Amino acid sequence: MSDFERAELRHQQLAERLVADGVGMWIDGEFVREGEPRDAVDPFVAQPFASVPDADATTVDRAVAAAKKAQAQWVKTSARDRAKALRKLASCLREVRKDLVAAECLNAGIPKMLASRFSVSAAVRSYEYFAEWADKIYGEVVPTNSPGVLDFTRREPLGVVAAITAWNTPTLFLGSKVAPALAAGNAVVIKPSERAPLPAHLFAKAAAAAGLPKGLINVVYGAGETGAALVGHPDVDMVTFTGGTETGKRIAAAAGLRPTCLELGGKSAAIVFGDANLDQAAFQLTFGSFGLSGQACAASSRLLIERGAYDAFIDKLAATATNMAMGDPLDDGTMLGPLISEASVARVEGLVEEAKQAGAEVVFGGERHDDGVCARGHFYRPTLLGGVNADADVAREEIFGPVACAFAFDKPADALELANRSRYGLAASVWTRSLKRAHNLSADLAAGYVWVNSYGAIPYSAPFGGIKDSGHGREGGRDALMGFTRLKNVYVQL
Ligand code: NDP
Repeated sequence: MSDFERAELRHQQLAERLVADGVGMWIDGEFVREGEPRDAVDPFVAQPFASVPDADATTVDRAVAAAKKAQAQWVKTSARDRAKALRKLASCLREVRKDLVAAECLNAGIPKMLASRFSVSAAVRSYEYFAEWADKIYGEVVPTNSPGVLDFTRREPLGVVAAITAWNTPTLFLGSKVAPALAAGNAVVIKPSERAPLPAHLFAKAAAAAGLPKGLINVVYGAGETGAALVGHPDVDMVTFTGGTETGKRIAAAAGLRPTCLELGGKSAAIVFGDANLDQAAFQLTFGSFGLSGQACAASSRLLIERGAYDAFIDKLAATATNMAMGDPLDDGTMLGPLISEASVARVEGLVEEAKQAGAEVVFGGERHDDGVCARGHFYRPTLLGGVNADADVAREEIFGPVACAFAFDKPADALELANRSRYGLAASVWTRSLKRAHNLSADLAAGYVWVNSYGAIPYSAPFGGIKDSGHGREGGRDALMGFTRLKNVYVQL
């Protein structure tokens, strides 16, 4: 048996165990298995492993109606009891933590290390964190110039929230979007990406085990029409979405005047100065640029390096990036898993070829990886391009693959201009020992999230989100919670 055959067998056995009872939608406290079947695919073996039902408009309608009914009760539930329910869900998720990790490896190709430490842990912590917020949502007394008047604000839930979640860390979004929505008194209909529905199925089972009120959380699957049916439903009061910018724009148009939280694409810049700790910068940016095989909204895909440090930094980056272990996502040592689909690898390949023809130099990578255990999956090597025209597609558009472009700069102002020359504005990082420079650039960078001498850490208490074509709204912390409330003013003539 070859290494690949052994790995394939392990994937088959895992799939049989995780989907032993079939994958169902979760609507009004019941698993629903009717619907056109769609394959759920394991990107590592490039084979389907389960069949998942698609929701049509009638099923979406049932889910929204169930959520609406549940929300009417949930809003009357005391904050203390809402917190208790969220803590119970956190504990049920903890119990199935290993299965959630395995589901991310199997269905989304996320390496176990990242699925465990980043996605699943963050989701569990979101429930624990937002449980503590449930009884801390309150308005303010507003000063007025009129005697005998009490004017105050109330923070009220929005109602039914549609959460359309992405496949790149599927469990993470089930926490970051759903936990604050519930804490604020909303009910939720989740529509996971059709590319990675399995974590949502396990999540629904945990919600069932936690004994949450029927209809408070609903999960519907599908592709092509389900998301639009959900967003277009008149009883959906708010939409939170993570995914591509063009889809986000369509969702914003369909949502009309209803509030939206849109976590979209990015083309994040890292500005590395010669006085920085280059070892630390190269190590962290290796993961920042190529981690999750570049399928991360905040991937550091533009590296701007002060000219005098350019060669030294690139050598260090190459040393770590070319040694990243590519392989079976279920292996503890795997750092890079497959891309989500053949179409994704073909797109990355096309963009790199285009860049090469336009004169770019491949500093490292620049090809697929299909040796040994990676024979069947959609692997692409971590790739750094130099000599790229800053206005070329590869330097401007989100690639969603393990490809970064390197540029040398002479003056801080040039680096800032290049960093901000993007339609996106999600994240950025600055690497320097100068406090003054770090603060000045943090203020001037057109991005929603800036790291200084660090990359990738997103505390669940910090607001994460973008500006420009990276969307709006924030996930994490108090600001996320507030995004799931509306403000009402009450003027009382005493
Ligand atoms: P998207 O992430 O753009 O969107 C897919 C999801 O959106 C599905 O659940 C789909 O459901 C729903 N959807 C699509 N159209 C509508 C609509 N009009 N109204 C409501 N819901 C809708 O698609 P992909 O997964 O194909 O990713 C495309 C690109 O997006 C990637 O290459 C990457 O660049 C980027 N991306 C960014 C992510 C991030 O973290 N910011 C995460 C994932 C992808 P349905 O089909 O049923 O409507």
